[in-house]
Amino acid sequence: MLKRILLIISILTVLFLIFIGTTRKPFNIMITMAQQYAENYIKGGSDLEAKENNKNTEKPEQNLADKKTENEKDRSEKPEQPKKADPPENVGPQTNNQTDSPLSFENTTKIDQNGREIVTNVNSLLVLVNKKRNLPADFAPKNLVIPDVPFPFEGDSPKKYLRQDAAQALEELFQTARKENLDLLAASGYRSYETQKNIFENKARAIGEEAANRTSAYPGQSEHQTGLAMDLTSSQVQFQLVEEFGDLKEGKWLKENAHKFGFIIRYPKGKEDITGYQYEPWHLRYVGKEAAEYIYTKGITLEEYFAQLYDYK
Ligand SMILES: [Zn+2]
Repeated sequence: MLKRILLIISILTVLFLIFIGTTRKPFNIMITMAQQYAENYIKGGSDLEAKENNKNTEKPEQNLADKKTENEKDRSEKPEQPKKADPPENVGPQTNNQTDSPLSFENTTKIDQNGREIVTNVNSLLVLVNKKRNLPADFAPKNLVIPDVPFPFEGDSPKKYLRQDAAQALEELFQTARKENLDLLAASGYRSYETQKNIFENKARAIGEEAANRTSAYPGQSEHQTGLAMDLTSSQVQFQLVEEFGDLKEGKWLKENAHKFGFIIRYPKGKEDITGYQYEPWHLRYVGKEAAEYIYTKGITLEEYFAQLYDYK
């Protein structure tokens, strides 16, 4: 009996081996099956990974949200930081020596019959007016408004007026100054060509033209005619415009903070040779935040700003 079974088994085995030998089909089938298994196994693995990934993208949508807010934070912080770095690098090299820039010397100046430089970009917030560059006698800025800040005198007066951009910036400056308990007042803003003419002629009559011009501008050369300048004062100096103002807490604060609101101390100490005027810690000039930041950071004057960036002589 056992012998018969063994015989059948061996016959079947032989037949099986012959079958494999001739067709190799089962082999192929086995290989294919093995391959499929292996593939499934790998797929299964990657599915797992995918699921893990899903977990990362699904569950941590909060993570994404966090990242988003971080990005937004970055973005909201960026405008402040690059502002410091941007103007020196971007405004500088890009605009340097560019005669086609609206702020180039050629595009902001004409020479009159007497060889005097007449400013042509009179309405620009970055207009440069000084002892060389004259405003036309008939120029008066548009959009003059009275900023909502304290003055040491009552009633309406041209001195209270500023161009709208400058007025708004001054209000912001005063809001912050108030929080810091500073005793600041606005003493003198817009001044017409005619008024400047009277002021200068009276002064020249008293102390001579040359001496008068050290502190007072020729008509057409006063920044106050642009509507972008405001003289500030304090009760501690009896509302006068005097150098001691620069030693007060108020004067020091302005020197370090005016640029944050778009203003510069137009006639700084030690720069008299460049600006042509004595130190005036009280005279603020609005130039916009970007230029103000640049000028403050570099410790330069408006003249140097235009010399560096726009090649003014
Ligand atoms: Zn002034």
